[in-house]
Amino acid sequence: MSDPTVQPVPASVVEQVDAADVTLSNPHRAVLALGSNLGNRLETLQGAIDALEDTPGVRVKAVSPVYETEPWGVEPGSQPSYFNAVVIVKTTLPPDSLLERGQAIEEAFDRVREERWGPRTLDVDIVAYADVVSADPVLTLPHPRAHERAFVLAPWHDLEPEASLPGRGPVAELLAAIGLSGVSARADLELRLPD
Ligand code: ATP
Ligand code: CA
Ligand code: CA
Repeated sequence: MSDPTVQPVPASVVEQVDAADVTLSNPHRAVLALGSNLGNRLETLQGAIDALEDTPGVRVKAVSPVYETEPWGVEPGSQPSYFNAVVIVKTTLPPDSLLERGQAIEEAFDRVREERWGPRTLDVDIVAYADVVSADPVLTLPHPRAHERAFVLAPWHDLEPEASLPGRGPVAELLAAIGLSGVSARADLELRLPD
């Protein structure tokens, strides 16, 4: 079987390729949002970052500060708060393989899927993949709710103040529109770029 990790992204689905990176052949930039609200949340987020880096065809380029977030879409106080972070990766994996890898990493951290937006050890979402726009429910790009989530926009903005969410506009403007309610920076905590 051919190695799926070197499978190129079909040119038809990718509008922008960063050809300047020579670490991986033909890599694409992706923005991932990590969240944890069960167990040792910081350790889990770091473990997810290290597992991403250990993935053939994935390089972790930047890791955001940690944010603490009240759970979203549920009754306040009914679940522990989240730790959230954003990572920027360069990858030769196509979007669906990157999603599968994220889900495998969730499972490796014993994520159990029960209720929607229920508590979880680890959530790995693809916020954006290059400039790909897709309405496919299995992998919607950009993530359909990223533009309204401060816990995604704030850490992403910390890393890339000039970034834009494809089809939605500058991250700085999206963040200014929603504000930081329910989200606070945890300057006392730190995630590391893998060695
Ligand atoms: P939300 O999507 O609102 O953040 P969630 O992360 O709790 O909620 P999950 O149960 O983790 O939702 O995922 C449900 C499904 O969403 C996944 O099985 C996956 O196929 C799909 N999905 C669609 N677009 C994306 C994306 N951009 N990133 C991750 N999963 C996605
Ligand atoms: Ca999510
Ligand atoms: Ca998810």
